[in-house]
Amino acid sequence: MSSTIQKLSPRLANQIAAGEVVERPASVIKEVVENALDAGATRIEIDIEQAGVKLMRIKDNGKGIIKDELDLAISRHATSKIANLDDLENVQSMGFRGEALASIASVSKLLLTSKPESQEDAWSVLAKGQDMDTQIQPAAHPDGTTLEVTDLFFNTPARRKFLKTEKTEFNHIDEVFKRLALSRFDVSFHLRHNQKTIYALNVAHNQLEQERRIAQLLSKDLLQNAVVIHADDQGIELKGWVGLPTFSKAHASMQYFFVNGRVVRDKVVSHAIKQAYRDVLYHGRHPCYVLYLTMNPNMVDVNVHPTKHEVRFREQRAVHGFLFHHLHKALASVRPNAQIESQV
Ligand code: ADP
Ligand code: MG
Repeated sequence: MSSTIQKLSPRLANQIAAGEVVERPASVIKEVVENALDAGATRIEIDIEQAGVKLMRIKDNGKGIIKDELDLAISRHATSKIANLDDLENVQSMGFRGEALASIASVSKLLLTSKPESQEDAWSVLAKGQDMDTQIQPAAHPDGTTLEVTDLFFNTPARRKFLKTEKTEFNHIDEVFKRLALSRFDVSFHLRHNQKTIYALNVAHNQLEQERRIAQLLSKDLLQNAVVIHADDQGIELKGWVGLPTFSKAHASMQYFFVNGRVVRDKVVSHAIKQAYRDVLYHGRHPCYVLYLTMNPNMVDVNVHPTKHEVRFREQRAVHGFLFHHLHKALASVRPNAQIESQV
């Protein structure tokens, strides 16, 4: 009998994996900006055309990739971020799966250009969705890395068909950008769409500058209707802005919760927040918040889902209790009448 089981070609394997990581242009932006953050960049510039479908160019001033590793960077399961299971349990980087660049390369035309400080010249590698037989070319680039992605899904028509209108795809990018820019006040972020500057955010050194960034990204109103929270006990820290009950929304739209710098959606977190607002919020209304939870990385498992939007806390009850207690306290500290007065 002839054999029926075959190994997937590397390209097909990558394209299948890409289905998990690269859903739309916004997912590319997320992965590539996370790489820039992991590389220690303090300035990240994003240029896109046609909501990223035609072009996405992300430039950073991070530590770069040496010439000999450019090929490796875009190959599957290649990462500089973890080497063993111990590393995985304590992972502090945004990435660690070594899948993003290989996935993106398999469904687009990708040009990766980089120059580490230690290297005299810049080099680039071009991949066009083919099996990874790539060529390294000399290039011009300052210290750092630029990733240029053109014609997303050019070789996967079925996926391309799933893309929505330019406006919708841009809205997804806008949301991803907001989350990233809110996650790191110590990094400057720029976004240009079809040659037009959408955001130009400088590094935010103090609370005032952080609030300016929040105002630019979300709304000024939130800050005028929020309490600042800062709680720290037993190795867990919670910081941020908690919207007043009077500033609630009909949809859960202005809710940003970061765990160790990573935006997450988590049942334990949502439940604790809901409980904290229970007595002060009208039924069916949703609170607004930008909150940062920081804890020892080994207290939280981030390897739950490829996009890493989900986490699993080792001590769920303790985290729930901590959040509820401090949010409840912060909300109780504002006299409801005083707030209503100040709104008139
Ligand atoms: P991961 O982030 O999970 O390691 P990626 O496929 O996203 O996997 O990236 C592969 C590797 O390429 C990274 O581990 C890193 O060493 C390198 N790399 C990617 N982007 C950058 C960048 N902007 N600056 C420096 N190194 C990068
Ligand atoms: Mg990555």
